[in-house]
Amino acid sequence: MKITKISVPFPIEYGYGRATNAYLIEGETKALVDTGIDSESNRKFIKRELEKAGALDLNFILLTHGHLDHYSLGTYIQSETGATMMIHELDSPMLEDYIGHYFSWFCELRDQAIEGGFDPGLLEEARIKLMTAASMLFKTAIFEKFNEINLECGALRSVHLPGHTEGSVGIAIGDSVISGDVAIEGSTVVTDLRQEFESLEKLKVFSKIYAGHERTPLLRGDIDSLEGHFISRLEEVLRATRKGATLKEIVVTLYRGSALENQPYKLILPINQTVAYLRYLEAEGLVEKRGKRWISFKDSLSTR
Ligand SMILES: [Zn+2]
Ligand SMILES: [Zn+2]
Repeated sequence: MKITKISVPFPIEYGYGRATNAYLIEGETKALVDTGIDSESNRKFIKRELEKAGALDLNFILLTHGHLDHYSLGTYIQSETGATMMIHELDSPMLEDYIGHYFSWFCELRDQAIEGGFDPGLLEEARIKLMTAASMLFKTAIFEKFNEINLECGALRSVHLPGHTEGSVGIAIGDSVISGDVAIEGSTVVTDLRQEFESLEKLKVFSKIYAGHERTPLLRGDIDSLEGHFISRLEEVLRATRKGATLKEIVVTLYRGSALENQPYKLILPINQTVAYLRYLEAEGLVEKRGKRWISFKDSLSTR
C-alpha cells in the first residue's frame, strides 16, 4: 500500500497556525487519514490534490482524533467523493458537539487555574478569544464510530493510542503508522500522560511514524526524545514543588512566565500541560496538593 503525505495549509484567513499532515493511502481501498481545516482555499486545494492522485473515488476518511484541524475539511471531502468518515467512539463526542466539548475542557482548566493563582480577568479574555475561534472554525460532521478498524485482511488496521485525546488512534500499514498528534517532533499536547507514555511505547514497534504536524515521518529516536522531553518536564515539576508551589508558580517556572501574560489565550496550553504533569505525579504518589499548593516528596523520578 502506498502512503502519500498531503500537507494541508492552515487557512491564512484564520491567522497563523500549523499545516495539518493528511495522508492518502492507496491499496484495494483508498483512504484519506485526517483532512485539515475547512476553508474555501482548502476545499480547492484538497480537491486538486485528490484529483491529481486519481483519488476522487475515495472510500474512507479515517480520523486519528476529533480535533478541528484533523476533521473539519472532511464534510466537504465526503460531499465530493462519497467517502465514509470514521472516528474512534471515544472521540466521537467531539464531532457531535465540538463547542460543548471544548467549553467544558476550558472551564475545567480555568477553575484549576484560578484556584492556582491566575488572574480571572486574563482567563476570561482567553475564554472569549478561544471560544470565538472555535465557533468560527466549527463544522458539523457526518461520521461513523468505530472501536477497531481492520481492512484488507489486516493490512490496514487501527491502533488505539490515547494520551493526546482519549480516542486517538494510529492507522497501521505494515511497519508504518499514521499517528495523528500522539507524537509530534519536540512535544505534543497531552490530556493523560500515563496513557501518552503507553502509546509512545506502542509506537516503538513501527519503523516509520507519520505525524499529524511538522516533520514526518518520525523515527524511533524521535519517540525516545519525546519521552525524554516529558520526563525532564516531570523532573522540573518535582524540583519546582520541592518547597511547595501554586499551579501558577509551576507554569511560570516551566514556561518562563512574562511572555505568557501578554496574550492570555497562550496561557491555556501551558496550564493544560502542567496540570497533566501534576496529575501524573500525583497518581504516582510523588506530589500532593495541600490547600492551593503542590508539594513534592522526591527531587527526581529516578530516586523512587
Ligand atoms: Zn490534536
Ligand atoms: Zn493537530
